[in-house]
Amino acid sequence: MKIRGAVLERIAAPTPFAESVPITVCELDLGEPGPGELMVRIEAAGLCHSDLSVVDGNRVRPVPMLLGHEASGIVEAIGPGGSDLAVGQRVVMTFLPRCGECAGCASDGRTPCGPGSVANNAGELLNGGRRLHREGAQVHHHLGVSAFATHAVVDRRSVVPVDADVPPEVAAVLGCAVLTGGGALLNSAKPGAADRIMVVGLGGVGMAAVLVAVSLGAHEVIAVDTVPEKLSLAKELGASAAYTPVELAEHGIQADVVVEAAGNVRAFETAVAATGPGGTTVTVGLPAPDARASVSPLALVAQGRTIVGSYLGSAVPSRDIPEYVRMWREGRLPVEKLVSSHVGLDEINRAMDELAAGHALRQVIVFD
Ligand SMILES: [Zn+2]
Ligand SMILES: [Zn+2]
Repeated sequence: MKIRGAVLERIAAPTPFAESVPITVCELDLGEPGPGELMVRIEAAGLCHSDLSVVDGNRVRPVPMLLGHEASGIVEAIGPGGSDLAVGQRVVMTFLPRCGECAGCASDGRTPCGPGSVANNAGELLNGGRRLHREGAQVHHHLGVSAFATHAVVDRRSVVPVDADVPPEVAAVLGCAVLTGGGALLNSAKPGAADRIMVVGLGGVGMAAVLVAVSLGAHEVIAVDTVPEKLSLAKELGASAAYTPVELAEHGIQADVVVEAAGNVRAFETAVAATGPGGTTVTVGLPAPDARASVSPLALVAQGRTIVGSYLGSAVPSRDIPEYVRMWREGRLPVEKLVSSHVGLDEINRAMDELAAGHALRQVIVFD
């Protein structure tokens, strides 16, 4: 079938992207879903820093690639052999499929799925190959999802069903921002009731971590970012204090659990320095592959501190998303507050500039 989608044509184009236009919105051919696959009509798709990292070349992926990995939609067709999901089911897309059979999948989320990672790096679906073509040439999938489009074919193991009362925007942000930011706390750090929690870097993932920390009833939730507006928003969302990195260092403020969600070396070093004795730094950001940080091993040993890396919040999406839905339904996790604006598919290059400038929390593309 014919779809409309946003295809990244070339990596590391000059900024502003609104002028260099590395992404074109065009018509593509979407193949039929194969065995174990679904065709999903996209309802909402969030712009995440991991999309920008492909556009600006920090995460090298094959092009042309149809971007978008944080999304929700409705199942419209099922591949041969059927599915446990029915047509009409709302699903959350998740950006790392889980084969369910490898050592990574047996690790309870700590290690990414091996075959899922291989497929993602190749721009293919979990079962191999691509369902996207343009004028006869293959177009790569982004993280098994490719949701900046009217429709997508995805592996069943790339989605989690949610009930119809979960609005499309809420469902979309559960799939990346909330899984990652929430998982950094619930799966990786597992804070105790008395622990002070700090989040460094207040994009969609970091702000989701703030929301989850507040929902846990943490006695102190400290938000850190360089942008004053984001500090104000974090306080509106329930953070007990908010600082710039400079203020943090000046006052020597530390916490027991510090989540780094900015994806750059300075934020990582800020997070490690702000982790108190016996505390844990959880890093979920994705800096450039050649980035190197400076950390004192002596301070780690002498103060009994821990640094943990957490990809996708060490999540098991089929286990964790229903839990976040439950928290949202109880009014404890107002994730709709992460959505800062709606944008049209045709505005995607400008929206990437907004994201790069650090202004946007979650810009969401809504399809009707
Ligand atoms: Zn993401
Ligand atoms: Zn696996």
